[in-house]
Amino acid sequence: MGYLKQIEVENFKSWRGKQVIGPFMRFNCIIGTNGSGKSNVMDALSFAMGERTASLRVRHLRDLVHGAHIGRPVSDTARVSLHYCDDEEQETVFCRSVSGQYNGVRFPFTLAKYLEALEKIGIVTKARNCLVFQGAVESIALKDPKERTKMFEIICQSKEYAEKYDKMKEA
Ligand code: ATP
Ligand code: MG
Repeated sequence: MGYLKQIEVENFKSWRGKQVIGPFMRFNCIIGTNGSGKSNVMDALSFAMGERTASLRVRHLRDLVHGAHIGRPVSDTARVSLHYCDDEEQETVFCRSVSGQYNGVRFPFTLAKYLEALEKIGIVTKARNCLVFQGAVESIALKDPKERTKMFEIICQSKEYAEKYDKMKEA
């Protein structure tokens, strides 16, 4: 199973200029005082995984640029790169910018291709990637069990095999 090796941010939210977050292990814990930027790490991750504005805690993507929250953005864009390593330690970079560019090593650059490449490593943007944001734990715990099952089926992509599985059970 692959893993996220590091995140590179450039003028994204609380990070000015280029900075590296990581290296990460397969299991990670981010700790820090209130307001130190823990949730911003999740925002950076979600942004590069194709998330839209609402769950990134901003109204417009341009508000993600460092300084924009006080009306003084330091640049007209911000960038986040995810360095993903597969089982063979082969690295793929997924890079998204606020100005609407999608780059990467080893795949082309349109949004559709970008999302397709993410899906190949199990990141399904429309399933919200199982990122549980601050305050969302309770809402997931309180979901109807069927609803929760449906959510996990979408995330792990087992739904597409459900019909085949049911048919084989009958045979
Ligand atoms: P808590 O423990 O309260 O949840 P946290 O560690 O999750 O805090 P974050 O919400 O990640 O903290 O970070 C908040 C900080 O990010 C604030 O200091 C805020 O000023 C800063 N911040 C948010 N957007 C920007 C921006 N566009 N430019 C610069 N700094 C920003
Ligand atoms: Mg937080």
